[in-house]
Amino acid sequence: MIRISDIQSADELLPARMLNEFVYCPRLFYLEHVDGLFAHNSDTLEGAARHSRVDAKSDALPTAQEAVQCESIHARSVTLSSEQYGLIAKLDLIEAEGDLATPVDYKRGAPKSLDDGSLGAWDPDRIQLCVQALVLRENGYRCDEGILFYWATRQRVRITIDDALVAETLAIVAAARRLMDARQIPAPLVNSPKCPRCSLVSICLPDETSHCRAYVACEQSEQTQPGGRWVQPLLFDVGYPAANSESIESAPVRQLITSRDERRPLYLNTQGNHVGISAQVLKIKEKDKLIQEVRLNDLCQVNIFGNIQLTTQAIGALMTADIPVVYFSYGGWFHGMTQSVGLKNILWRREQFRQADSNRFCLQLAKQLVKGKIRNQRTLLMRNHVEPPEQALQFLKALTIEVRRAESLAELLGVEGLAARVYFEHFNGMIKVGSDDDRPRQQNGKHEFRFDFERRNRRPPRDPINALLSLGYSLLAKDLTIAATSVGLDPFLGFYHQPRFGRPALALDLMEPFRPLIVDSAVLSAINQRMVTISDFVVVGDAVALTANGRKGFFRAYEQRMDQLVTHPLFGYRVSYRRLLEVQTRLLARQLMGEILEYPVFETR
Ligand code: SF4
Repeated sequence: MIRISDIQSADELLPARMLNEFVYCPRLFYLEHVDGLFAHNSDTLEGAARHSRVDAKSDALPTAQEAVQCESIHARSVTLSSEQYGLIAKLDLIEAEGDLATPVDYKRGAPKSLDDGSLGAWDPDRIQLCVQALVLRENGYRCDEGILFYWATRQRVRITIDDALVAETLAIVAAARRLMDARQIPAPLVNSPKCPRCSLVSICLPDETSHCRAYVACEQSEQTQPGGRWVQPLLFDVGYPAANSESIESAPVRQLITSRDERRPLYLNTQGNHVGISAQVLKIKEKDKLIQEVRLNDLCQVNIFGNIQLTTQAIGALMTADIPVVYFSYGGWFHGMTQSVGLKNILWRREQFRQADSNRFCLQLAKQLVKGKIRNQRTLLMRNHVEPPEQALQFLKALTIEVRRAESLAELLGVEGLAARVYFEHFNGMIKVGSDDDRPRQQNGKHEFRFDFERRNRRPPRDPINALLSLGYSLLAKDLTIAATSVGLDPFLGFYHQPRFGRPALALDLMEPFRPLIVDSAVLSAINQRMVTISDFVVVGDAVALTANGRKGFFRAYEQRMDQLVTHPLFGYRVSYRRLLEVQTRLLARQLMGEILEYPVFETR
């Protein structure tokens, strides 16, 4: 029995398309309709292209009273709503004889083959069509039948709008509204063939989320139930049971996301250059000479170092395409970025702010991050040091145990600082430049440069390696600021790094385990593979800085590292570091929303 009060528990109108998503997967409905997330895949792009042709002309539908006078009506792309049920639908085509209307809904794929060999409709499509019938009825039309037109086979499937279908549809409307009110995302489908076809798969991370839930439950309870199911209590009292919350399947993780993002960052480093746009292509000019053209479709971000001019038209096109523009000082100081509206997901940010007020949560997460960082520093030394320093490695191992014992963020900072000192004391042992490049270089007879690292110094960096490290950490902070923002979190509110004006504290938190793996490793490659040489450095005031050519060489080393495939220790598949930053940021959001108990820090083996 469906009560109207159930259906109208929220005052907004529910779009018929969202009910289609709800039937396909309630989590998809939640992500799209409640969290406001959307992403295209090839299927949705093709569907959007077909609908843009259908929607090219929008007709006015006569009232049902007027329609009685008409012999036949063909109205395209008509939006109607139902106050009674709180529904809204955009109807591709309405065919009517008098006031007897038949909605026709265009679908991208093929119809369902029924057991008897006849053609049928997929459940999400049936429900969406029934919503269209309901809004037509509320607008005075009679509607006993609807038609689904499947583009792939160009076949029509007729659906009778009977009481049973109406009851089924209203039950689904009520369930969707209950889910919206509960504000609890349903658990992902387990090992479902729907996920590879789902456009939100790289946002949802279905198998990764299920695996993290099972993994943490396994680590904590060390108990299984028969049939390989792990029991996981919910961390927070959410009031609404997530679908599947009482048991979690430990299914294998499929690689449903692509290993790499084919789009690339653009670095603009030559002072005085000018960037305009024409026909979705960025035109980079030096004085009046065109020196580079880049299609917007090939870009994921634009990085501006120093005095480079972008036209308002270029900025507008980049914002429309959701491509952030990141601004650095000439010396590599990360100033900030311009992006489209961004930060729309207020529910996630509310949880972020709530958890940031919890000392327990901050300490727990900070311990994970610091432990991961120390372990990754240790791994880098073991892999790259000319003669791995056994005592230092043992000490770093012991410090990971100290991390677990830390009772405050201040104590943790002390352990992290100690680990950094030991690690950087041995950093020099990982630098393997040849004798010709290792020669000290004098500038104005005063300064001698060599790739010889003593200790970490910054603001300003006083030697070439510190200059490279500082630039690299700026780039990584920028990439994680972009990742946090695109996921919907506030990059300025962290858990380990405490809030301070202008500091992207969440980005700094997230980057801790990646500092050695991405930046330190890129610095070593840049030096050891001569992508940057000692002649690429200059003294500017108190600081040692890179020349434009040196920066170019380091950007290449950094991007090579970001593009490198690495095996995720928990999921077993290979992804680029750039892709990994996004996955890890999404997993942190899962923890903030209470979906997984613990943030799985990335540790390389
Ligand atoms: S990826 Fe799978 S679980 Fe996630 S929203 Fe899509 S269909 Fe649902």
